[in-house]
Amino acid sequence: MSPSESVVVVGAGLAGLAAAVELSSRGIPVTVLEQHRRGGGRAYSFTDRTTGDTVDNGQHALIAGCTATMRYLDLISTRRFLHTQRSPSLTFHHPALGLRRLRIPDLPSPLHLAGGILSTDLFSLADRLRLLRLGWALARLRDDDPFLSGASVAEWLRRHGQSAETIRTLWEPLAIAIMNERTEKASALLFARCLRRAFLGRTGDSALVLPSVGLSELFVTPACALISKHGGRIILGARAAGTILREGRVTGVRLEDGAELPASVVILAVPAWSIGRVLPEEMPRRAALLKAAELPVSPIVSVHLWYTTDFMHEEAIGIVGRTIQWVFNRRKIEEKGGQGGHITCVISAAHDLIGEPSRIILAAASDDLRAVFGKAGGDPIHSVVIREKRGTVSPIPGAERDRPDQITGIPNLFIAGDWTSTGLPGTIEGAVWSGKRCADLVQARQLHLIPSLS
Ligand SMILES: Cc1cc2nc3c(=O)[nH]c(=O)nc-3n(C[C@H](O)[C@H](O)[C@H](O)COP(=O)(O)OP(=O)(O)OC[C@H]3O[C@@H](n4cnc5c(N)ncnc54)[C@H](O)[C@@H]3O)c2cc1C
Repeated sequence: MSPSESVVVVGAGLAGLAAAVELSSRGIPVTVLEQHRRGGGRAYSFTDRTTGDTVDNGQHALIAGCTATMRYLDLISTRRFLHTQRSPSLTFHHPALGLRRLRIPDLPSPLHLAGGILSTDLFSLADRLRLLRLGWALARLRDDDPFLSGASVAEWLRRHGQSAETIRTLWEPLAIAIMNERTEKASALLFARCLRRAFLGRTGDSALVLPSVGLSELFVTPACALISKHGGRIILGARAAGTILREGRVTGVRLEDGAELPASVVILAVPAWSIGRVLPEEMPRRAALLKAAELPVSPIVSVHLWYTTDFMHEEAIGIVGRTIQWVFNRRKIEEKGGQGGHITCVISAAHDLIGEPSRIILAAASDDLRAVFGKAGGDPIHSVVIREKRGTVSPIPGAERDRPDQITGIPNLFIAGDWTSTGLPGTIEGAVWSGKRCADLVQARQLHLIPSLS
């Protein structure tokens, strides 16, 4: 890329930062525009004034198989801030059985999955055999299976003979967390792809990975430092109002205050619901690109609770049959530790709760924690409720058709984001992967290697 050329990335969420970090580390300086006064988009942290603790806008979980994210963290030198399970396991609280574990033994894939299923006491023997059959079907699954692409997770599970008990105990907590959507509404195709990636890849890929520091410290601040170090800049509080198109090529970005920032390459890394505002008005395939903006969204509610004591022994527990799906013990995960107990509860696909006042959400959380931990769980000394109305785009069956490629058809305009075509639901891994792909495309363009869009 010649020094006179300039790359502008719109949006400092993880997709935009990943694109900018990749390009910066390859010697290409980048200007990043972000409408807010902080980066990170839907993954950020702040300091809770009462306790002084770092609080995330919601607990984010990864698996060890998130290779794009691991590469990004290596580039910004923060991978050491991940807390990774030594051997993959999931703990569930079952209303009748109490705490139960599903451990994945250290055996070659796919024997590790079979071993895990056969050895758990979470399910009856008949249900374990049905799970094994589903594992076998998963290994032979084809992405072009016509049933899979139109079916919901619930339909797919029923088709594979999963019992109501297995669906409630295992599949619902898992699918809602991964997909941020209810099993009746979430795409079977995307879910099956995630399962394959987690459980049928390398043995350790399904290990749970949790940030041991705040999301901003892990993903954002070091990325901004790297971008600046390589001659780029992050302009906060700068909202793009459009992309300027002249003679079929993008020439810059128009800001809300009317100023124009010249650019020889633009990467739009804004969420689906904002893309309409920044895409050039007169561009081929605009209507197709905007289809994803019409997809429904799914909310996430997070509840942070503080206690006088740290009574939770596990790092993470899936709660069966209640409002909260997952509860995390920040004290066991975080690098710094702290006084007393700090628990984060996650309610994904929180369609019913998102409009409720905090006291209703807190009452539901306290009820659930009392059911799991006894009286102590219901007596927090401090709480913070965070509602993300637009947690992610809802991964409904058929939505894959509307997710656009990162290539737009305009040779120097690319789009990144967890909602673009990544093969994954709206996740960090998808966002980061799309950002890296845009960086690769920018370099390919430079080398005239860019593929045409079919
Ligand atoms: C509470 C919660 C919990 C989650 N948990 C998980 C999890 O456990 N695991 C996981 O993998 N994922 C999780 N996710 C999803 C994950 O956070 C997102 O997939 C990811 O952060 C999306 O990144 P992005 O860059 O694609 O989009 P965004 O984060 O939305 O970033 C887009 C950026 O563009 C900016 N922008 C928009 N319009 C303009 C404009 N006109 N001009 C300038 N800037 C603009 C926005 O302000 C924003 O900063 C969770 C999300 C939430 C909300």
